[in-house]
Amino acid sequence: MDEKLRILVVGGHPADVFDHCGGTMAHHIKDGDKVTCLALTQGLRIHDAVVSEVFRFGTGDRTPEEIERICREREEVKQNEVRKACALFGITDVRFLSYDDKMLQVTMEMIDAVAKVIRDVRPHIICTHYPQTYGNVTNHHGNAAKITLDAASLAGTVDFDDPNPSWRTPQFAFMLDTSDSMAFNALSGACPAVANYYVDVTDVVDLKVKALEAMESQQYGGDYARKVIETENGVYGLNTRHSYCEAFVMNTPEVGTKLHVSDWLILRANEPEIDSRLRDYRLLT
Ligand SMILES: [Zn+2]
Repeated sequence: MDEKLRILVVGGHPADVFDHCGGTMAHHIKDGDKVTCLALTQGLRIHDAVVSEVFRFGTGDRTPEEIERICREREEVKQNEVRKACALFGITDVRFLSYDDKMLQVTMEMIDAVAKVIRDVRPHIICTHYPQTYGNVTNHHGNAAKITLDAASLAGTVDFDDPNPSWRTPQFAFMLDTSDSMAFNALSGACPAVANYYVDVTDVVDLKVKALEAMESQQYGGDYARKVIETENGVYGLNTRHSYCEAFVMNTPEVGTKLHVSDWLILRANEPEIDSRLRDYRLLT
């Protein structure tokens, strides 16, 4: 395909638009592809140093007007942090639907809103959360994925209220975090994700740390950012014997005229055992 790819990342909360796929998106931007990020909710009740961290213990004698003003201020702070983080990866098209994250449920209003973005962006790939997070029972991220899939379906049909024509998205990449891949409680045990595509993000891993550090409103500073990347992307890297990877479940099987095997797998299959052992633990690159 001569045309550059258009990718739409849809996250349930603002930081979700880059924290599990930012390294991959940096590679696409470098190749001239277009990346648009869309956050469904403002994410104040789940991660915010003021709203979720202080107000959950009480709002004191603040009036409803003061609370509303503080929430809007915090929303703006978070949006600016996300723009700053995305800019590190070269992503400049960052959009916010700003729904309340009281409980991220699948609603027709949100499906309609995301469908309109899909018809506007016309993505070749939509990157979103794993729909069966926590066993597909109830979870903000899983519901965000369901909204996105429903919206993609709607975007492929007629909508008399939208001036943009329909668009049918060819591929979906479900971005994983390690909690999607592990059966660590009863709900997640029902259907843990099996990654079927990994992206080596070792070259941009420092950007990933900086991007998380930018989220001061979520208290991601200090040692936290580096530890998250070491564990999350380090675990996925270990699965493929790279230093740091992002992991995805590609929804639609690819079709081609030939079979494909990567240079990496060819190298690994027949290398000397000592090289293999050293490479497993990144003592040989
Ligand atoms: Zn989230």
